[in-house]
Amino acid sequence: MKIELPEKVKTVIAELKAHGYDAYAVGGCIRDSILGRTPGDWDITTSAKPHQVKAIFPRTVDTGIQHGTVTVLMDKEGFEVTTYRIDGEYEDARHPKDVIFTSNLLEDLKRRDFTINAMAYNDETGLVDAFDGIADLNAKRIRCVGEPTERFSEDALRMLRAVRFAAQLGFAIEERTEQAIRDMCGNLEKISAERIQVELVKLVTSDHPEEMQNVYDTGIAAMILPEFCTMMETEQHNPHHIYTVGEHTIRSMQYIRADKVLRLTMLLHDVAKPVCRTEDENGIHHFHGHPQVGAEMSRKILRRLKFDNDTIHRVMALVRAHDDRPPLQGRSVRRAIYRNGTEQYPELFEVKRADILAQSSFLQQEKLLYVDRYEHMYQQIMEKEQCLSLKELAVNGSDLIARGIQPGKEIGEILHQMLEKVLEEPELNEKEVLLAWYFKA
Ligand code: ATP
Ligand code: MG
Repeated sequence: MKIELPEKVKTVIAELKAHGYDAYAVGGCIRDSILGRTPGDWDITTSAKPHQVKAIFPRTVDTGIQHGTVTVLMDKEGFEVTTYRIDGEYEDARHPKDVIFTSNLLEDLKRRDFTINAMAYNDETGLVDAFDGIADLNAKRIRCVGEPTERFSEDALRMLRAVRFAAQLGFAIEERTEQAIRDMCGNLEKISAERIQVELVKLVTSDHPEEMQNVYDTGIAAMILPEFCTMMETEQHNPHHIYTVGEHTIRSMQYIRADKVLRLTMLLHDVAKPVCRTEDENGIHHFHGHPQVGAEMSRKILRRLKFDNDTIHRVMALVRAHDDRPPLQGRSVRRAIYRNGTEQYPELFEVKRADILAQSSFLQQEKLLYVDRYEHMYQQIMEKEQCLSLKELAVNGSDLIARGIQPGKEIGEILHQMLEKVLEEPELNEKEVLLAWYFKA
C-alpha cells in the first residue's frame, strides 16, 4: 500500500533515517489517509530519543519531552515527533507512572488504543499493520489493540475515545470492546474534565452525533453527563413530541450544522425538561420555564466539564432563547432581539429549526414558516440598521450628564427608557429627538 505523505513529513522521516534512526508516520494520519479523509495532523514515531531529535533539527519545541514528544518546526508547520515508547505501569486508570523508550516499533504500536490507530507507514517499509487495522477499517470496526479490559484499565479515557471514533467515522464498536466499556465505564470517574471535554467535543461535532445513544447505552453518559441519562428516560406526552427528551435531543443535534456551540446548544437545550415537567388534567406534559432553568443547568454542566467562558455564555444564551417566540410585528421582534441579545442571531434561527425538525409532524410546517418569517423580519431590521441595543442608541451617558443629570443609576434608567421607546418606534433614534422626548415628558 502506498500512502502519499506530505513533502515535509517525508523530509522529517528522511532526516531521521539519514542519521541512522527509524521513523514512520503513525496513528490518526495513516488511518485517515487510508480512509481518504484529510488528516488533521501528521504524527511521526521514531527510534531516536528526544535529545537526538533535537540535535538533528534546528527548530524544535519541547512539547511533552517527558513522554518523548518533540515538535519539529518546518517553516511554520509543526510535526510531533515521538520516541518509540512502552507505557510503564498505569496509576489509577490514567497516567503511566513512567514511560520506557524502546527501539522497537511494534512495542510502540502495541501501546496505542485501537487497531485502526496503530498503523505506521514510511515509503521504504510501506505499511506496518501488526494488529489488523486494515481489516477493521474495511469492516468499519473500532477494536482495541489487545485485551480491551486491560487497555481500558490502563487509561479509562479510551472508552470515550471509542465512541468518539465511532461517531467520527460512522463505525461500530466491536463486541468485546463494547462489552468491556459496559463493564468498566465506572473508571471514567478518574479522568480529568479537560480530557473528557476534548473527546466530547469531537463526538458532538462529528458526522454522527446520534452516537450519543451509544454513550447512554454503554453507561458512559452516567459517568460524564448524568443529566443526559435523565433526558433519555423522560417521556413527553405532548402533541408536539413523539420522542423522549433524549431522543428528541439527539435528533435535533443531527439537524444542526457541526459547530461546537450549536451542537452543545442542541445537546443541552431541553436539559431542564425533566425537572420542569408537569402533567395537566388531560395527562398532557408541560415544561414551563425549561429554557431559563436549562440555561443555568447548562452553565453548571459546562463549567464542570471545564469549558471556556465564551462557549459557556454562548450556549447558555441560545438555550435560554431557544423557545422564545415573539409575535411577528416589528416592535415585538426588535424587543425579542434585544431581550435575547443581538449576538444570538442569526444562529438562533438554526437552533429553532433544528428543534422543530426533531419534533412531531404536528403543526411542523406552520412552525417552520413562522421561523422563516421571523428571520425575514430580522434581516429587514438589520438592513435598515435599526437600533437594537444601548450601543446603537443615539443618546449616551455623556449626553445626559451634559443635560444636567447626575452621574449614577439614573443615567442607566433613562437610557433604558429611551431604548424601550426606540424599539417601539425606530425612527425616533436621533439624539435631539430623544432628548426632546425625554425632557419634555
Ligand atoms: P484525531 O484525528 O482526532 O487527531 P488521532 O487518532 O490522531 O485522531 P490523537 O488523540 O491525536 O488521535 O492521538 C494520536 C495517536 O496516539 C492515536 O492515533 C493513537 O495511536 C495514540 N493515542 C492517543 N491517545 C491515546 C490513548 N489515550 N491511549 C492509547 N493511544 C492513544
Ligand atoms: Mg491527531
